[in-house]
Amino acid sequence: MATGVIFLGPPGSGKGTQAEILAKLLDIPHISTGEILRSAIANSTPLGQKAKGYMDQGELVPNELILDMVRERLHDQDIQKGWILDGFPRSVSQATFLDELLGEINYAAPCVIDLEVPHDVLIDRLLKRGRQDDTEETIRRRLEVYHEQTEPVTDYYRRKGNLHIVDGNRGTNEVTQSLKDIVQN
Ligand code: ADP
Repeated sequence: MATGVIFLGPPGSGKGTQAEILAKLLDIPHISTGEILRSAIANSTPLGQKAKGYMDQGELVPNELILDMVRERLHDQDIQKGWILDGFPRSVSQATFLDELLGEINYAAPCVIDLEVPHDVLIDRLLKRGRQDDTEETIRRRLEVYHEQTEPVTDYYRRKGNLHIVDGNRGTNEVTQSLKDIVQN
């Protein structure tokens, strides 16, 4: 059966890394909204130009920039076998949008994974990662935004009964093994 996987988890939790590994293992596309936006910025597209200011400040990009993009991506042919969403949904409004969208394309309930990592470990990892938006101030703001806007998404899926919490404060291989066990069941 087709697998739809959603990765939640704060910045620095390793969701990008794990999403990529799992996508290769399952041979399904890895859809990272952060990557799509960063590539739009690198190519100076209108989307990139509009998104940059928000990203530099650690704020979420407004829905009007992101929802159509996700809708189009999930209508592509290569998602028939499954997909992994990394960085979406990041707010309850995005989660309800995704529910409707999955209804449109006749997709079964996704498997939602929340990678948990202690706050001080996150800060440490992000400072070491050194991506362009990983300055101390944006890191602080991104973690706040996660707490305010994305944590409620965890509750949203917990209530629906498809949330899996995974300890992300372990070696990459151990985390991958837990994810395989969840997704292949
Ligand atoms: P991180 O590893 O820090 O979570 P991402 O690559 O997922 O990084 O996202 C980087 C930035 O891209 C976010 O801080 C936000 O500004 C923007 N972004 C990514 N996905 C979304 C989304 N679904 N809604 C709004 N903004 C988003």
